[in-house]
Amino acid sequence: MWLAVGVAVVLLRLLLPTELLRGLAYVVVGGAAVVAIVVGVRRQRPLRALRWYLLAAGQGLFVAGDLAYTLLEEVSQAAPFPSVADGLYLAGYPLLALGVLALIRGRTPGRDRAGLLDAAIVSTGMGLLAWVFLMRPIADDPSLSLLERLISLAYPMGDVLLLVIVTRLLTSPGARTASFWFVVAGIGLTLAADVVYAALVLLTGYDHGLIDVLWLLGYLAWGAAALHPSMGSLSEVAPERSLRFTRRRLVLLTMTSLMAPALLAYQGWWLGAAEIDVGAIVLGCATLFLLVVARMSGLVNQVQDQAAQLEALARNDGLTGIPNRRAWDLELARELAKARRLGTRVHVALLDLDHFKRFNDEHGHQAGDRVLKEATSAWRAQLRETDLLARYGGEEFAALLLGCSAAEAFTTVERLRAFTPLGQTFSAGIAEWDGREDPGRLVHRADVALYEAKRGGRDRVTRPPPSDASR
Ligand code: GH3
Ligand code: MG
Ligand code: MG
Repeated sequence: MWLAVGVAVVLLRLLLPTELLRGLAYVVVGGAAVVAIVVGVRRQRPLRALRWYLLAAGQGLFVAGDLAYTLLEEVSQAAPFPSVADGLYLAGYPLLALGVLALIRGRTPGRDRAGLLDAAIVSTGMGLLAWVFLMRPIADDPSLSLLERLISLAYPMGDVLLLVIVTRLLTSPGARTASFWFVVAGIGLTLAADVVYAALVLLTGYDHGLIDVLWLLGYLAWGAAALHPSMGSLSEVAPERSLRFTRRRLVLLTMTSLMAPALLAYQGWWLGAAEIDVGAIVLGCATLFLLVVARMSGLVNQVQDQAAQLEALARNDGLTGIPNRRAWDLELARELAKARRLGTRVHVALLDLDHFKRFNDEHGHQAGDRVLKEATSAWRAQLRETDLLARYGGEEFAALLLGCSAAEAFTTVERLRAFTPLGQTFSAGIAEWDGREDPGRLVHRADVALYEAKRGGRDRVTRPPPSDASR
């Protein structure tokens, strides 16, 4: 309803007979938007309402500027530029920017460096464009007094600020609600109106009343953002998952990164070498390069961290944290190759918990999980640093014992048996490597020995048969 009535008023306003009436209607629409923001905050009670009041204050300053402008031009017949109206308008930009940045901060407390860098890249490219086409001509204009020149430069700077916050908003994670898009529209319409106005005035000196419609629609969008039921969620913390890097973002970053060389080409080839704005191009290029490198280093770090995480995930068992079957296979092959070179002795023991299915059935699967966890940490504490303990399968474990005699291997596994927690027992079989056989055959012999221990009545360790001790 707000939008329907608002758009109708904005259009009907064009039919009003005098500039003064149109100006006053303009102020009424803007003022209604400020009231709408306050009403929205009162009704929806968002977390941290202060940032919305900041936005209302920013809009309020714009409206005050509109009022001053109309009164000066239509009532006092004074030149509205430069005047107090400019001061009011220009004070509105930073307030608005602060309010939106506070909203964004609420969505992303202390993370999203990537989104920040992306926004900086886009802003730098577009800022360079704004400098070359909007600000440079003003800075060079000899017909303007110093004050006029400063004020005229401050407007495009305010627009660059709006551009920074709208790209930051668009690159921030979090839900894209109706209220979110109304805020984007509010900033975007103001920005578009400012740029069209600046370009028209610069190029033709002509100020068309239709641009007012854009500014007024911007006010309406702000009011809609605050009145829409989704406004409360606008500053809610975004879920941990960061925004996917979309093709659209890639295209945007590429285009804005190429802005500096494109401007250089335009100035150098189109206008002539003397027209090249060396300072702006150098600064723009350097800033863009640094931002892209910073973004890239963030990505490289992220990939490296994830590779390390994946490696750990792929090698370790999720429940007990000790190496899994895959890591065991790799490690065993490597240790056998080393033992072949150095001539060291290697024993493999396979451990299998006794009647574990029964334990699970009686005490539940979670109690079974606890046995697995506590047993592995108790056994691990009894082994040497260099010995490997891995989870071979469900309730089966494999131990690699390096550089010990058959008797020592047997005592070690017996010690593990004594330290099995929660009243559980296991059976184990040990095999000594014969110096030639492959890992599969060695493990198979340990498995045969384990089977023997089970058949012999469980809760025992089968020693390596003497024939295994070939050396
Ligand atoms: P045996 O003395 O002959 O080895 O009897 P068992 O019951 O231990 O052997 P069986 O192979 O019949 O059953 C193994 C059980 O181990 C079945 C399965 O429920 C349990 N198990 C395997 N992995 C896990 C696990 O990750 N958590 C729990 N809680 N139980 C597991
Ligand atoms: Mg088993
Ligand atoms: Mg078992």
